[in-house]
Amino acid sequence: LFITLEGPDGAGKTSVLEILARRFEESGTDFLRTREPGGIRISEKIREIILDNDHTEMEARTEALLYAAARRQHLVEKIIPALEAGKVVLCDRFIDSSIAYQGAARGIGTEEVRSINRFAIGNTMPDLTILLDVPAEVGILRISEGRGHEVNRLDAEGLDFHKKVRDEYLKIAESEPERVILIDATGSLTDTAEVAWDSIKSRMK
Ligand code: C5P
Ligand code: MG
Repeated sequence: LFITLEGPDGAGKTSVLEILARRFEESGTDFLRTREPGGIRISEKIREIILDNDHTEMEARTEALLYAAARRQHLVEKIIPALEAGKVVLCDRFIDSSIAYQGAARGIGTEEVRSINRFAIGNTMPDLTILLDVPAEVGILRISEGRGHEVNRLDAEGLDFHKKVRDEYLKIAESEPERVILIDATGSLTDTAEVAWDSIKSRMK
């Protein structure tokens, strides 16, 4: 079972993932917790290239291709072997991030970004995607209040950018209701994580 966690910046993905990982551990499930670029040497190097510029230098499609390339390597080296070994894979961000960030917010076009990602991932789509939803204003506020790590480059994007990200995520959820579980993440972390855990459990039955 391949599960991805998605959501705009400030939705609480990483913290919710932490709680979900604990639940999986307690339930004795054999699982792999990972995130893009997932500690894969080649993918980490690609990620460094993406982050090593101030956004005026790297063109949007170049960035989208690099994310897709990093995703491919992470998939092949880490995710697919774990799935083949029968593990539940829990991944922080995957294809939907690219559709929302590069496709919609950065303005490349969602179909273009979808097609390069289809090329990158083949038919290994997530079985289940937990979409943590918060309004852009809430996400930005959480980021500006700090969340234990450095505010990164894209967190500094404006409200309009974050609104586009969120709106695209909502469209994806609407068009793929079997795969994407939309969860209101404006409440507390523990409440959000419980709702996410319950929905994963019911899908696993
Ligand atoms: O997963 P995390 O929130 O740490 O991602 C780091 C940053 O990279 C985020 O601020 C997000 O805006 C950005 N990002 C992106 N396009 C992606 C994935 C992440 O712009 N496909
Ligand atoms: Mg972030």
